[in-house]
Amino acid sequence: MTATSEAGTAIDPRVQAFLTKQHGLFIDGATREAKGSRRIDVFDPATGEVAATVACADASDVDRAVASAKAAFDAGIWSGLPPVERERILLKFADLVEAHGEELAQLETINQGKSINIARMLDVGASLGYMRYYAGLATKITGQTLDVSIPLPPGTRYTAFTRREPVGVVAAISPWNFPMMIGLWKVMPALAAGCTVVLKPSEVTPLTSLRLAELAIEAGVPAGAFNLVTGDGATGAALVNHPDVAKVTFTGSTATGKAIARTAADRLLKTSLELGGKNPAIFLKDVALEQAVGGAIMGGFLNSGQVCAAASRLYVAREIFDDFLGALSQAVGGMAIGPGLDPASQVTPVVSALHRDKIIGHIEEARRAGARVVTGGDMPNRPGYYVRPTIIADTTNDMVICRQEVFGPVVTVMPFSDEEEAIRLANDTNMGLTASLWTNDLAKTMNIVPRLKAGTVWVNSHNMIDPNMPFGGYKESGIGRDFGTSALDSYTELKSVCIAT
Ligand code: NDP
Repeated sequence: MTATSEAGTAIDPRVQAFLTKQHGLFIDGATREAKGSRRIDVFDPATGEVAATVACADASDVDRAVASAKAAFDAGIWSGLPPVERERILLKFADLVEAHGEELAQLETINQGKSINIARMLDVGASLGYMRYYAGLATKITGQTLDVSIPLPPGTRYTAFTRREPVGVVAAISPWNFPMMIGLWKVMPALAAGCTVVLKPSEVTPLTSLRLAELAIEAGVPAGAFNLVTGDGATGAALVNHPDVAKVTFTGSTATGKAIARTAADRLLKTSLELGGKNPAIFLKDVALEQAVGGAIMGGFLNSGQVCAAASRLYVAREIFDDFLGALSQAVGGMAIGPGLDPASQVTPVVSALHRDKIIGHIEEARRAGARVVTGGDMPNRPGYYVRPTIIADTTNDMVICRQEVFGPVVTVMPFSDEEEAIRLANDTNMGLTASLWTNDLAKTMNIVPRLKAGTVWVNSHNMIDPNMPFGGYKESGIGRDFGTSALDSYTELKSVCIAT
């Protein structure tokens, strides 16, 4: 019999079975027990109840996972396959994710709290496009032939070319906001390049990643090429510190990104770090009110603001500021708050009690600093980890609320007098992941876009990503880029070959 959630979504029986499973670690192609017996509780943010438990890896478990990945890499059982075979297996992996799409979407919603609509459309839907893009790139890894002018010994001819070779074992540490999707942002280019992987999902949201590991093996990814460890407190550091790891890819907080960079410095370990943002959206005076409000909601409140690219600082031309603030407050105040499994919910719970309290703390701090909460600012009276969508005005750029990532359904709204001021305010941050500009004035667009210090600048949109469009940050938003061929390159070493004849 199929159970139905209180919110009305029929729960896939495979989801129920997966939640009650005794999850272990995923090493060498199969589920293995962790050495220690400690279990980590995984919560349903819509209810605050334990949804499942997972294993907690210690350093010896991390050792086993890395050893499996290293043995698979050294034996060439993955990198040595013809590229077309790697592509075929990765396409099969995508097909399996598609076939299990509803199951994965429900698991993601139950574990992360997000709207089932987003889980279906982005976490599963967008991931499929992403998976197939990188599967296809497995057969398009190329080098260059190089004309060289080496004069010695006289009469010698040289033929030179470059090869891209997989870096080796990749440690992938993924976050809790889009656990499966961002996990795949790391695993897919790594596998396409011929690397082997140890994935460490966030301890808060490990469930879909555990399912992904099973599906990868079912698709034909060889044992050892895709391993997964769950754990909290020391597992991530054990992985990054492991001498057989050749590259770390991390998405998460700036503080942890810096800690990883410090560890990496000792061994000159390769790193890709995506560390969030405090992203501005600039609304010029010519933008239509409805378009501006829709854009601010899409930019600021998608997944309850738990999006690294989210527009959390809104800068609005003084001429339209009052109308904008009024219309946005009305729209945000009317958003339906409810569990992610209810497709009608527009604001769903945030990921954890700890995170909810952190968001509320930020709002309180803003109030104390003199800012005005225009709408929201508290928790609705219901079980689960909800924060009412919040708009904050009367801020100055030096307030903590304008400088630190809140990662919740909270935006600040500030007026500006001219474009120079808007650019200055937008760039006045130590981060630089994304920005958006809202205008139909082409000349202003072409003047402002190059001056915004951000890895992605959208015009008349926000939060739109594509596997072919590099994504990453300026300044403290990180190092390197996800997506595109540049991400694939970051999982390879570039070797020059020079043949004398
Ligand atoms: P982090 O973003 O700091 O990430 C925690 C993860 O990093 C865990 O898997 C942890 O493993 C691992 N880790 C911690 N320390 C180290 C280390 N020294 N070396 C290697 N791995 C390490 O924490 P939170 O998930 O708590 O998120 C905090 C904030 O980060 C959020 O409030 C939000 O602002 C931001 N964030 C940004 C995201 C983005 O997309 N850029 C996504 C999610 C969060 P272990 O538990 O084993 O230590």
